[in-house]
Amino acid sequence: MDRDETTVTVVGGGVHGVHLAIRLLEAELLEADRLRIVEPDGLLGGFRRKCAQCGTDELRSPYVHHVSPDPFSLRNFARRRGRVDELVPSDVGSDRPTVSLFFDHAAWVCERYDLESTVVRAAATDIEAVGDHLVVETTAGPLSTEWCVLAVGHGRSYAVPEWAETLPPEAPVCHVWDPAFDPDAVGETESVGIVGGGITAAQLAPTLAQPGREPTMFARSPFRVESLEAGTDWMHFGGVVDELHGLPSASRERARAVVEARYDGAMPPHVFARLRRALERDRLSLERTEIEVATEAGGTVVVTCRDGTARCLDRLVCATGFDSPYDGSLLRRIRAESRLATGYRGAPVLDDETLRWRRRDGSPSRLFVTGVAAQQVLGPFARNVIGARRAGDLVVAALGSALERDRSPKPR
Ligand SMILES: Cc1cc2nc3c(=O)[nH]c(=O)nc-3n(C[C@H](O)[C@H](O)[C@H](O)COP(=O)(O)OP(=O)(O)OC[C@H]3O[C@@H](n4cnc5c(N)ncnc54)[C@H](O)[C@@H]3O)c2cc1C
Repeated sequence: MDRDETTVTVVGGGVHGVHLAIRLLEAELLEADRLRIVEPDGLLGGFRRKCAQCGTDELRSPYVHHVSPDPFSLRNFARRRGRVDELVPSDVGSDRPTVSLFFDHAAWVCERYDLESTVVRAAATDIEAVGDHLVVETTAGPLSTEWCVLAVGHGRSYAVPEWAETLPPEAPVCHVWDPAFDPDAVGETESVGIVGGGITAAQLAPTLAQPGREPTMFARSPFRVESLEAGTDWMHFGGVVDELHGLPSASRERARAVVEARYDGAMPPHVFARLRRALERDRLSLERTEIEVATEAGGTVVVTCRDGTARCLDRLVCATGFDSPYDGSLLRRIRAESRLATGYRGAPVLDDETLRWRRRDGSPSRLFVTGVAAQQVLGPFARNVIGARRAGDLVVAALGSALERDRSPKPR
């Protein structure tokens, strides 16, 4: 492919990739035919599937958090279609959209920008600097681009308990985010266990609780209820984020500051209320213990817990969250081979003002990073929709100046 064909390639078409692509078009930094989104699952396909897999009906964030640049776009969309009843009251801040309203609005926004025409249905496997441009290696072949925005979320890096790693492939044990897991395909009378006590497990367990099927939740820690994922001061990307930037880039100290700020695994009150109802109505059992050993036994799985109890289950679903955002296959590949700088546990060294990944010599590369992998710059809301909005501000400003420089006539 001619290297001049694409100005920006966005890798990942989730909330971040879609929002960033729209922001670049909206700012008129380029035309749609100079933009490409590399995404194997279709625009927002991965996020939509995750919501369905754990039974998320309503988003946690307010209605001003969505993929359009106009904060009131979703509310106006709902009003025009008589769907304001899908804006659910919240105990903090604005109402929250149902998942179906959020995705219908997102599909409408993508259509308005004709984003589908930019999609390459493929997974990126590597990104290399070649001269003054980048080559994105994909399962559909190499793509040449001037700039790249990496927006792959956790890049399919999921946390799995140690005992699950040694089970044979035929064991009926999976992770809730396995593309093959479908809660609607769980048999009506199956005995099913759910591992975890965070927000995902708390949504999945009542979803699987049906008449005739009483799932068991294995949660080792007490439930934690919080409306948001971190304090609201982090949402404004002001003083607390400036303090974060006072720590060395991609350092252990920054990593710790983000972990401490984030209420990981905490569930919002509406999720806890649904879980409590299911428990009170005996539609769900709760085991306050940890599975220590699991064995496959003729199509079932036998688990032995720390408290000495054992159970035989038809299926076990691990709702044990995500692993390090720097350990997805693409990030591992990039950092193994490139001249890009990485820090503590493989975190990319990003420029705090622009989100550009720095090279080992300190100069900024042509690769921007958004989403959870940018959490050491944007803080605990980096992965959220609001994090995409903030990343959009930084990337549009930085790319705008860079493109102007690229396009201005070179002095003789
Ligand atoms: C069930 C659930 C509910 C949530 N609710 C909220 C909420 O209410 N509010 C909120 O702010 N946040 C919420 N979040 C957090 C949420 O993850 C983010 O807001 C958002 O989905 C993150 O977007 P992303 O684009 O960074 O990542 P993702 O949604 O994970 O998208 C990344 C995309 O990159 C693609 N990709 C990965 N690797 C490659 C590759 N090698 N090549 C090409 N493409 C690749 C994937 O297929 C995927 O489509 C929720 C998360 C979950 C799981």
